[in-house]
Amino acid sequence: MSSTSNAYEMAIEQLERIAKLLELEPWVKEALKKPKREVIVSIPVRMDDNKIRIFTGYRVLHNDARGPGKGGIRYHPNVTLDEVRALAMWMTWKTALLNLPFGGAKGGITCNPKELSKRELEILTRKYTYAIANFIGPFVDVPAPDVGTNSEYMAWIMDAYSLIKGYNVPAVVTGKPPELYGIPGRIEATGRSVCIAMREACKVLNIPQREVTIAIQGYGNVGYHAAKIAHEMGFRVVAVSDSKGGIYDPSGLNPERVLKHKRTTGSVVGFKGAKSISNEELLELNVTVLIPAAIEGVINERNADYIRAKVIVEGANGPTTPKAEEILEEKKTLIVPDILANSGGVVVSYFEWVQNLTEVPWSLEKVRYELEKRIVNTFKQVYSLSFKKEVTMRDAAYMIAVMRVVEAMKLRGYLS
Ligand code: NAD
Repeated sequence: MSSTSNAYEMAIEQLERIAKLLELEPWVKEALKKPKREVIVSIPVRMDDNKIRIFTGYRVLHNDARGPGKGGIRYHPNVTLDEVRALAMWMTWKTALLNLPFGGAKGGITCNPKELSKRELEILTRKYTYAIANFIGPFVDVPAPDVGTNSEYMAWIMDAYSLIKGYNVPAVVTGKPPELYGIPGRIEATGRSVCIAMREACKVLNIPQREVTIAIQGYGNVGYHAAKIAHEMGFRVVAVSDSKGGIYDPSGLNPERVLKHKRTTGSVVGFKGAKSISNEELLELNVTVLIPAAIEGVINERNADYIRAKVIVEGANGPTTPKAEEILEEKKTLIVPDILANSGGVVVSYFEWVQNLTEVPWSLEKVRYELEKRIVNTFKQVYSLSFKKEVTMRDAAYMIAVMRVVEAMKLRGYLS
C-alpha cells in the first residue's frame, strides 16, 4: 500500500480494535470515527507559463475535545481526503498520548511540489491559507510541516494569516524558521524522539548498544535526523534509503557524508564504499532495528514474513499495516508505534506554540531536556501497560490515548 485511501481504512481498523479492548460503547466509537470538520478548497494558481491551474486542498479537524487541532500540511500527488482524515485521526491519538493540550488535525494539497517553482509554491501556500483562514488559528487549529512542506512554507502561512488579521499571529502555525518565531530543535525533533524511543526499546530488550545495527528507510527530515542523532548517540547506522533506492555498509555509514552526497547527486544511491540495495532489500536486512521513515504501508502482509529486525521504530506515520503487525507479533518483533516514536515533532511544536503565546524564548538545551523527559516517560508508561495487559505497544499506546480523548469528550458533554 502506498499513501492512498487505505490509510483511512487502516486508521478505522485500529480504532475498532481498541474500541473492543476498551469495551467502548458503540456510539462513542462512532463519534470517534467521524472527523469534527472537513474543509475542501479549490485553489486557482496562475502558473509560470501564464496558464491557470486549479489545485485541491484539505484541512480536516478530527477531534478538539482536548484542545485546538494540531497537525501538519502535506504536499504530495497522492494526497486525498481519506488520507488526510487518517492522518488527522492519528494526530488526535498522538497529542493525547503525549498529554498535550491539543486535538488532532491534518491538511494537504494534492500536488507535486518537486514540479512547481518556488513562486508557484508560495502563491499556492498563501491562497490555501486564505481559503482555510476561518478554520485555523492559535486556539482553533494549528498547522505544521509534513511531507513536502518545511519551515519556509510555515513562514508564508504565518504571514498570509497575519495579513488577514492585521497583526502578527505567530502561534497560528508551528515549525516556523527559528529566525521568525520558530524554536530551536524543531527540525531535528522527530528524528530525536525516534532515537530516544529506539534507545529505550533496546534497553528493555537488554540489547547492548554496541551490538545494535540500524536500517532507515527515507532520508528526509525524519530519516536523516534519526540517522544523525543515532550516530551521535553511538549507534551504528548500516543502511539508509530514499525514493530512488538504498545503500548498505555493515561497518556503518556516516550520516553527514551521506547527506552531502544526497545534496550533490539528488539521492543517497551511489554513496562511495556502500553497496546499492533496493528499498525492499533494506526492509528485509538482518539488522537489530528497522526505522521506516518515509511513507505509509511499506511493511505489509507481502513482506512482514521476511523482516528480520528485532525492533521496528516507526518514524513515518502508519508504515505497518494491521495484517503485517499480526505476523510480526507472532515473530515477537517489538514495534514502537508511530504515535509514540515520531511524536517529537508535535511535542516540540507544542513548546513553540507555548513560546509564541508567552513570548518567552526557549533554549535548545531546554527543548532537548523537556523532549527527552516526555518521550522517556511516555515510553515507560506504554511499555508497562503493554506488559501488564499483554498487548502490543501500539494497543497500549492507543488505549491510553483513546481513553484520554473519550474522558475529555464525556466531561465536556460532547457525548450527551
Ligand atoms: P520528507 O519529505 O522530508 O522525507 C521523505 C523521505 O522518504 C525522502 O527521503 C523520500 O525520498 C523518501 N521516500 C518517499 N517515498 C519513498 C518510497 N516509496 N520508498 C522509500 N523512500 C521514499 O518527509 P518527512 O518529514 O521526513 O516525513 C517522513 C514520514 O514521517 C511521513 O510519514 C511523515 O508523516 C512522518 N512524520 C514527519 C514528521 C516531521 O516532523 N517531519 C513528524 C511526524 C511524522
